[in-house]
Amino acid sequence: MRRCGLVMHPIFLEHDPGPGHPECPRRLEVIERVLEGKKLIEKTRRVEPRPATKEEIVRVHSPEYFERVMSTRGRATALDPDTHTSEKSVEAALLAAGGLLELCRRVMAGELDNGFALVRPPGHHAERARAMGFCLFNNVALAAEHARAALGAQRVLVVDFDLHHGNGTMHSFWRRPDVLYFSTHQYPFYPGTGAVADIGEGEGEGYTVSVPLHRPMGDREFRAIFRSLLTPVAEQFKPDLLLVSAGFDIYQGDPLGSMQVTEEGFGDLAADLLLLADRVCAGRLVLTLEGGYHVEGEAEGVAQVVRALLGERPARPAPDDAGAADAVIRAVQRALEKHWRFR
Ligand SMILES: [Zn+2]
Repeated sequence: MRRCGLVMHPIFLEHDPGPGHPECPRRLEVIERVLEGKKLIEKTRRVEPRPATKEEIVRVHSPEYFERVMSTRGRATALDPDTHTSEKSVEAALLAAGGLLELCRRVMAGELDNGFALVRPPGHHAERARAMGFCLFNNVALAAEHARAALGAQRVLVVDFDLHHGNGTMHSFWRRPDVLYFSTHQYPFYPGTGAVADIGEGEGEGYTVSVPLHRPMGDREFRAIFRSLLTPVAEQFKPDLLLVSAGFDIYQGDPLGSMQVTEEGFGDLAADLLLLADRVCAGRLVLTLEGGYHVEGEAEGVAQVVRALLGERPARPAPDDAGAADAVIRAVQRALEKHWRFR
């Protein structure tokens, strides 16, 4: 069995964006209950989060933005039309980011094989100088920077399978060849970024891979996109760490999206990512929770992912054809043919 670490903490239930908000504390309550019920928690190792420091946060965010968020400590406010906070939100955001950094440290040090940060608030929409789309600090971007600055990684691959495009993550590394950002996302859709032509600029050209999904796509399509686009890019990029913005809003019953991924499909995607991590970075795979608004479906999906991380659940054989993803796969391969070889 693989040593899988889970970041969990009651503070993440105390970030409350208010009644009726889809990004609700109940998401994590149900995830924990389902993991308990399936006796998965006892097979994992708990990683205690610690707060991220200012020094760590200003690797991605401006000092002014950091101070602005800190100034809302202890009170409820709105940092953006979608991004509402409660009294404990700043503590939760600091521990969400810091918990992910600590998980990455333990995986890079070889104390754990892999892990999943079950944290709120999510992060991938947060920009350098502003909160956005339920996100305060960009957890995954902070983790990529931390891996490079403090954990000995030279190159980091960030895969984002959330329903939404991670505009904040993309912008963080837009001109950088050391952090490659690969995203699948419904399109056109919130937040509007992530067209096929979004491939980075300057030294970073080719190190952003945008896979916009114009039609509903399910397990087969996502696995085909990973096989035909992610795998060849990852094998040539040779990262030291594979980070994942894991969004469960691509679930077939999600109220915000039109994707068709099943509970089992999430397990297959995680098993595929683990195989890829085994090939390119000695299995170092760290996921962080982003969106997911069908609370029960999300929790079942998370459980399947944890089973895959434990090595209990090998991927089912992947189907040969790409289904509805065929056209986007070819379009992305064309957009990046100068930068990467595709089979
Ligand atoms: Zn999302």
